[in-house]
Amino acid sequence: MIVHADPSYNFIDPEQISRIIDAARQPAPSQVREIIARGLEKKGLSLSDVAVLLQSDDTELDAEIFAAARRIKQEIYGNRIVLFAPLYVSNECANQCSYCGFNAKNSELVRKTLTSEEIAGEVRALEDCGQKRLLLVYGEHPKITAQWIADSVATVYETLSYKSGAIRRVNINCAPLDVASFKFLHQAGIGTYQCFQETYHQPTYEKMHLAGNKTDYLWRLQAMDRAQQAGIDDVGIGVLFGLYDHRFELLAMLRHAEELESRWGAGPHTISFPRMEPALGSELSQAPPYLISDHTFKKIVAITRLAVPYTGIIMSTRESATMRTELLQLGVSQMSAGSSTSPGGYSDGSLDEVTSQQFSLGDHRQLDDIVLDLVRQGFTPSWCTACYRTGRTGEHFMTLAKEGFIQNFCHPNALLTLKEYLNDYGGTATVEAGKHHIEGELEACQLKVKPQLEAKLAKIEAGERDLYV
Ligand code: SAM
Ligand code: SF4
Repeated sequence: MIVHADPSYNFIDPEQISRIIDAARQPAPSQVREIIARGLEKKGLSLSDVAVLLQSDDTELDAEIFAAARRIKQEIYGNRIVLFAPLYVSNECANQCSYCGFNAKNSELVRKTLTSEEIAGEVRALEDCGQKRLLLVYGEHPKITAQWIADSVATVYETLSYKSGAIRRVNINCAPLDVASFKFLHQAGIGTYQCFQETYHQPTYEKMHLAGNKTDYLWRLQAMDRAQQAGIDDVGIGVLFGLYDHRFELLAMLRHAEELESRWGAGPHTISFPRMEPALGSELSQAPPYLISDHTFKKIVAITRLAVPYTGIIMSTRESATMRTELLQLGVSQMSAGSSTSPGGYSDGSLDEVTSQQFSLGDHRQLDDIVLDLVRQGFTPSWCTACYRTGRTGEHFMTLAKEGFIQNFCHPNALLTLKEYLNDYGGTATVEAGKHHIEGELEACQLKVKPQLEAKLAKIEAGERDLYV
């Protein structure tokens, strides 16, 4: 049941955003450099600053923006990258989003909603690869009620595989709900609630969403407000790049972040950057109206790192391995690995991927290949879930992040989860490279918690699991 949006609450003012963009055209190099310097202070940037950086058209200055993003990323997040996998629970959908393969009008798609046994099968397959964090993804359909979603979350948490396998954090990407329904999800113990506005430009939004509940722009825009009212204080926002002018979209998304911060004391926990990929049955997705180049995409990610330094940036397997490697340097802090966007795609070979998936993937590598690649590049893969499980979420997490908590706690915890992964799931080359990486990190470690970290690494070697500092 959809309850209508509050018509008086719309924090996106398109005229104001257009004015900010117009006022920042062809900026002087000195202005760009002054903003980069301010960005490096890690206090964030205003929308006007972002408009200037976005519209600076000078490769030398772009290189300086990238270098600043790299520095901030290193100072706040170090070399740690959080890994997760999406789990597509249902591709049944009553909406008609013109860019999506799950669009109700797509008669070529083979539809499937997983039963609880099938969800458990998928979870076991994911656990057996070493996954610990999942993002559950759902179409919007009358049979996918809040209670049904909450039950599917419970199934995931209850499914434990024969090794040390357990999913420790379940994030959700589903249609916006009303406050009472969001409370079900909160009680089910979800981590982040994620919902992308797709486009903040209302006329474009209305053109792209032709039928179903998703036609209501404001209902979606106010989703995070309702989630917060229901007690979900980790929320994730995003834009589907390719639908409208990327300058408008980035500014509007950051306006959304500002609004959440001023209303709820914490901005979004994460921002995702889906870029449109070809989807079965969607002509629009084959030729997106506002295609952005790889360079512009990198610039958007780097500027976001400067604008909201403490917000997690998520990159999915929509992007190619090469692109993801470059983006990791520019501010990405979380990425999906070993993904399938087809319900049953991890454990059940009966559905053809092409006719059941949401869109085609750009990075097809298995989790272990990605772990090996990350470690070889000097990154520390992390499956840590300590914050969420010790109640450090929302405003509390943001305050800790600003006090250097990420380096002091998240980093040691990342090493503990990597050690666990290597002992239980790593391939020969990954184990070799991973051990070497942990030794190097310990040698360089000057943290107060180092003795505690070493003791816990030894306990993991002896068979204990799920340890954090
Ligand atoms: N049905 C829910 C909704 O629409 O919010 C959640 C699931 S939907 C499968 C998750 C996201 O996939 C959408 O919010 C959209 O941004 C993204 N998406 C849809 N079509 C896509 C495409 N062709 N390429 C890349 N991402 C796409
Ligand atoms: Fe359905 Fe979401 Fe796809 Fe739209 S984006 S068709 S709501 S699954």
